[in-house]
Amino acid sequence: MIKFSKSKLNTYISCGEKYRIHYELGIRARKTSNTLVEGSCIHHLVETGIAYGDQISDVLEHASIHFWEGHPFDRCAYDSEESYLLAQAICLEQSRQFLDLLGPQHAQAIELHLERPLIHPLTGEDHSDIILNGFIDLVLVGEDGRPIIVDLKTVARRPQEGMSRLALELSMYSYLMEERLPVQEITRTNVALVYLIRTKLPQLHWDSSVRTLHHLLDLYAICRKVAEDINQAIYYRNPGMHCGYCDSKSLCYHLPEQAVLIFGEENWQLYVDDMLTREQGLPNMALAANY
Ligand code: SF4
Repeated sequence: MIKFSKSKLNTYISCGEKYRIHYELGIRARKTSNTLVEGSCIHHLVETGIAYGDQISDVLEHASIHFWEGHPFDRCAYDSEESYLLAQAICLEQSRQFLDLLGPQHAQAIELHLERPLIHPLTGEDHSDIILNGFIDLVLVGEDGRPIIVDLKTVARRPQEGMSRLALELSMYSYLMEERLPVQEITRTNVALVYLIRTKLPQLHWDSSVRTLHHLLDLYAICRKVAEDINQAIYYRNPGMHCGYCDSKSLCYHLPEQAVLIFGEENWQLYVDDMLTREQGLPNMALAANY
């Protein structure tokens, strides 16, 4: 059985080797990057503010304390306690600003967890060995009373317009939400990426789109193909400019000092041992395949 979250599916699609390192070998960085931890914090505070902001006056302060207790200094990559504390204050302030920019929102659900096996949207063919699993950030109620599925993104600069037309996670969430609808009612689901842009003066950007049956059929085909490849242990490497932003770069590009610093000695050794095992296994595999 394979369970796909948005990250798991998108990671495999972006680079099979990245997926293998993270999900198959289970190699994780020792410390969470500052960008990632601050993005998660703002994400959490904004969701909390939408859910409870009008009921509890100091809800953001409490949510912030709770968040950072779960992300102690020694698990983050800040170079000093001072910068760690400064980041907490900035995240809290920026979250307040993002909530002001968002204004009052009518949320039907927040952090909605849904899980569902992959089913062909038209034929009903059931693949109970492929599970789709997601946490939908927000389900807002639109002016027409219909739901809008929202994925929040914390970014450093203004994003490329139109990403919402392509984002696979929005198709996945749409699929998860429409579980109980008969196929003839799956016409158009409203979706949006809401960017929380962390510029000096924080900005908000809505990128709205729709999901239709066509997108669900696409998602079905992608999940089937990716699951099939993973079951056959096919992990394509996809090197390119984007390697510069990849967490696994120090492993892939064999930079031992950097790799040990980021992942620890044990994980670096695990990666090297796995590489040697795979290389040594190649002649036997070739013989077995009558090459
Ligand atoms: S560094 Fe490049 S090739 Fe290696 S895992 Fe990352 S994206 Fe893939």
